Amino acid sequence: MEKVKRLLEHTPLKATPQRLAILNEIASMGHADLETIHNNLSKNFPSMSLATIYKNLHTLKEFGVIKELNIDNTKNKYEIAAQPKHHHLVCKVCGEVTDVFLDISTIGPQLKDVEGFDVDYCEVYCYGTCSNCKNKSAG
Ligand SMILES: [Zn+2]
Ligand SMILES: [Zn+2]
Repeated sequence: MEKVKRLLEHTPLKATPQRLAILNEIASMGHADLETIHNNLSKNFPSMSLATIYKNLHTLKEFGVIKELNIDNTKNKYEIAAQPKHHHLVCKVCGEVTDVFLDISTIGPQLKDVEGFDVDYCEVYCYGTCSNCKNKSAG
């Protein structure tokens, strides 16, 4: 909890128990969607509604504490924003989202040549089948 508390230090946001629990959930899962956060927190915070969690996620996103991942054909997921830059592998079978550290630094210069576009950063989503799902279908 202390670790996630620090994420709020540079924001005007109060470290409420609900907020810390939400951040803790996202931090421990890596990527979490609204319903999963709600399910996991309902034991300790039975009165915390989906709407309350949604509002908190929205605020945390606004202050740059968390990031929303817009993934095709699945619920939006949230992750802690203060992480090394990375990209995402999305399994179309089980929906698992995996962080991957790829060097895509050559994309910038290519786009500059082709489109005259200055790239600040790129974020890549790769869609496919994860090794778990591949093994399952093979077995
Ligand atoms: Zn999978
Ligand atoms: Zn990620």
